[in-house]
Amino acid sequence: MRQRIAVIGGGPGGLTFARVLHRHDHPVTVLERDPSPDARPPGGALDLHDGLGQLALEKAGLSAEFRALSRPEGQAMRILDPDGTVLRDWRPRPDDRANPEIDRGQLRDLLLGPLDVQWGRAVTRVVPGTRDGGALVRFADGRQETYDLVVGADGAWSRTRPAVSPVTPHYTGITTVETSLDDVDTRHPDLARLVGDGSVAVYGVHRKLVAQRSSGGHVKVYAQFRAPLDWHANLDLADAEAVRSSLLALFDGWAAPVLDLLRPGTAFAHRPLYVLPVSHTWAHVPGVTLLGDAAHLMPPLGAGANLAMLDGAELAESLATAPGDPDDAVRAFEERMWARAGRWAEITTAGLERLVGPDPALAVAHFDRVQPA
Ligand SMILES: Cc1cc2nc3c(=O)[nH]c(=O)nc-3n(C[C@H](O)[C@H](O)[C@H](O)COP(=O)(O)OP(=O)(O)OC[C@H]3O[C@@H](n4cnc5c(N)ncnc54)[C@H](O)[C@@H]3O)c2cc1C
Repeated sequence: MRQRIAVIGGGPGGLTFARVLHRHDHPVTVLERDPSPDARPPGGALDLHDGLGQLALEKAGLSAEFRALSRPEGQAMRILDPDGTVLRDWRPRPDDRANPEIDRGQLRDLLLGPLDVQWGRAVTRVVPGTRDGGALVRFADGRQETYDLVVGADGAWSRTRPAVSPVTPHYTGITTVETSLDDVDTRHPDLARLVGDGSVAVYGVHRKLVAQRSSGGHVKVYAQFRAPLDWHANLDLADAEAVRSSLLALFDGWAAPVLDLLRPGTAFAHRPLYVLPVSHTWAHVPGVTLLGDAAHLMPPLGAGANLAMLDGAELAESLATAPGDPDDAVRAFEERMWARAGRWAEITTAGLERLVGPDPALAVAHFDRVQPA
């Protein structure tokens, strides 16, 4: 008899998991808290690496579609000094498909395809061990359901995680304030040139500004800096002018063309960076597992969605094809995921320390190390 499988969360990890199971004709229930796919802005662009996110899409049978949608030119990266001097201006070769960019919304729609997601199903708790090694899922509306396997792909603040691990994310001491620019090529041509086809990053002492292009002339601007969690205690984060003034004061002395990135945005979102401990693992619990940020939340340095997708693809593939006990497939998956995520958590943790650290030269050196020649 086939297992009843539910995945909690319709992010990159959960949807890839469901899509690969679907490809293998295995039924899966996707439970997503958002009331609809467009309930929130999907966020900026993601770069999908050839051995990670792109491999996951291959397992989902979606490589050709990704090729058509993704933007290899979005890999371009420029680094400036706070005085505006261009330190690096890296452009990919036209055939370079190592890390092409795709808009999060496009990726979500690509993965959704034929999937039948249950929207508006916020999970409050997962209780293992209630049904022949399966688990009970409780919902915010009071309903509950049982499954043979519950996969928590519900992100940083996972409601599934407590079923397997008492660990919660901790603050890195670095926060992000994000704003968006629309139609940059027409409305802000100077900023469009500054950002180029991909991203521009400016590193200062304990702070950085990054702007990244998505398709359709959209640009996300991220101001990242070291600060206590309550740095905004005397600031109304809904007051865009007040936040802008505060950021301009924080980046005081930086060149005007760089600070111009902060001027047009009409709203700012505060996103403190939280992480799980490097090498977060747990004692295996039959009937429940985690993948993606729920399992290994790490600094956002271009790996998280890639890892979540590959986790999802690999777990789905082994559940659909493993001849033996599905619980053995889950155990083997967890061991593999922990090893891979541990390596990336070390890399991204060290990277964040350099990119938002005391010596901006270390940030540039980090870029030189990770960027292909
Ligand atoms: C600014 C920024 C830039 C980034 N850039 C990159 C990049 O270029 N490349 C990259 O690989 N990674 C990047 N990342 C990291 C990446 O966004 C995450 O690692 C990735 O989204 C994790 O995917 P996930 O599916 O595990 O979780 P999520 O994307 O967080 O998805 C979780 C889903 O679960 C749902 N959910 C949550 N709670 C519940 C509940 N109780 N009940 C039901 N549903 C629930 C949520 O609504 C959501 O849809 C970036 C992150 C940030 C912040």
